[in-house]
Amino acid sequence: MIDAKTIENKITDHKTTLLQRYKEIVELPSVSSQPAHHKDILATAKLAASFIEAAGGETRIFETKGNPVVWGRIENNPSYPTIAIYNHLDVQPAEKGKDGWTQEPFTFVEKDGVFYSRGTTDDKGPAITALYGAIIAKELDIKTNVEFIWELEEEIGSPHFQDFLDQAKGISKANSIIVSDTVWLTPDQPSMTMSMRGSFFFEISLTTGGKDLHSGLCGGAARNPLAEIAGIINHCMNPKTGEILIEGIAESYEHPSEEILDQFEQSGFSVSYFKEAHQLQSLRFDDVRSITAHIWAKPTFEVHGIIGGYTGPGSKSIVPNTATAKISMRLVPGQDPYTIFELAKKHILTYCPDAHIELEPGMLKPFKATTGTPENKKIETSIEFGFGKKPVFAAEGGSIGAIVPMSETLQVPVYFMGLSLPEDSYHGPDESFRWRQIEGGIKAYVKYFELMGQPS
Ligand SMILES: [Zn+2]
Repeated sequence: MIDAKTIENKITDHKTTLLQRYKEIVELPSVSSQPAHHKDILATAKLAASFIEAAGGETRIFETKGNPVVWGRIENNPSYPTIAIYNHLDVQPAEKGKDGWTQEPFTFVEKDGVFYSRGTTDDKGPAITALYGAIIAKELDIKTNVEFIWELEEEIGSPHFQDFLDQAKGISKANSIIVSDTVWLTPDQPSMTMSMRGSFFFEISLTTGGKDLHSGLCGGAARNPLAEIAGIINHCMNPKTGEILIEGIAESYEHPSEEILDQFEQSGFSVSYFKEAHQLQSLRFDDVRSITAHIWAKPTFEVHGIIGGYTGPGSKSIVPNTATAKISMRLVPGQDPYTIFELAKKHILTYCPDAHIELEPGMLKPFKATTGTPENKKIETSIEFGFGKKPVFAAEGGSIGAIVPMSETLQVPVYFMGLSLPEDSYHGPDESFRWRQIEGGIKAYVKYFELMGQPS
């Protein structure tokens, strides 16, 4: 068994180069949602591949109809098992002075062991951590091969990831995949993700006339599309409790068991921390059990915006002729996005037959991680080895588009090993990542590769 000290010494040997590479890749503004940054996406792919090659690995940059995917393999012996690690190297947009950024977002800054810049935590820091886990594992003769899957379209919903998977199938020898793009619940408590919600977005619009009307002349007899849109929303969900009233929804998913809710309760989730971190004045529920059940294990029907009518200063006595609502639904394991969308559509059209419903592109299926296998135990042991604390089980209310296609196409179990902390400002201003997460993460990976190279 490899001891912690041996790995720590190796990390010290590599630290200077690691930080140099981390800085280099973080300073490339690989913003996938902005076409102007396409050249940075390509530069990021090239640079990332060069890191794997420098470690003696083979790489391929797979072209898709969208952004490429970097695939790499560090092989120690073809007869050893292979673990693939998924990270993404594209980032959210960021601009100094905007959305709360106080520094140049693409200038790498270190302060007391904390690294600041867009992409430090989501998800370039965790990618570099996995890479150095594999490099050190190779130096220590560990009996596992490691592959890397580095996507460059995660932040825009992975629209072309399937293109990559269709090409990589047969090339990748992965026996399982670790996804490293999730966040701990609290700074001192590692957590392991059990499931992720899926989602889809749609618009409901209603037009009842050719122009806005005088509310004195026509009001009372004229239909009001804004009010009807509000009625549709109320017909679909109870705004006080969030309960979805769409027919067939309650039967469409597996309700969280008492055992799952117990795990949620013991996850370290703190109501006060949650309220403070998200600046919430009040919530629909007060207790950990109900809150975690509703953000992790239940579907939602969310209203993002309503467009229509007069919103300028003062009053304007019109009956609007048209209104639109932007809606999304988050889905939990058991729910198929297409089926649920059809249920919602039917429910709305029965209530308001002339409403127009339009699905937005990008449906994501919910995902349930494989649990109860020897591999789960090994991940747990490795995280405890890296961070000195056993991980707790939690779930993610969000979605990572690549996960379901990866598990379906490559036909291997998918596990999670998140390294980011809640204060790291995922998608937010002054994004950060800590050295202790990199160091702990490398130790956890090396231990994991070691354990996976041994018969269970
Ligand atoms: Zn991410």
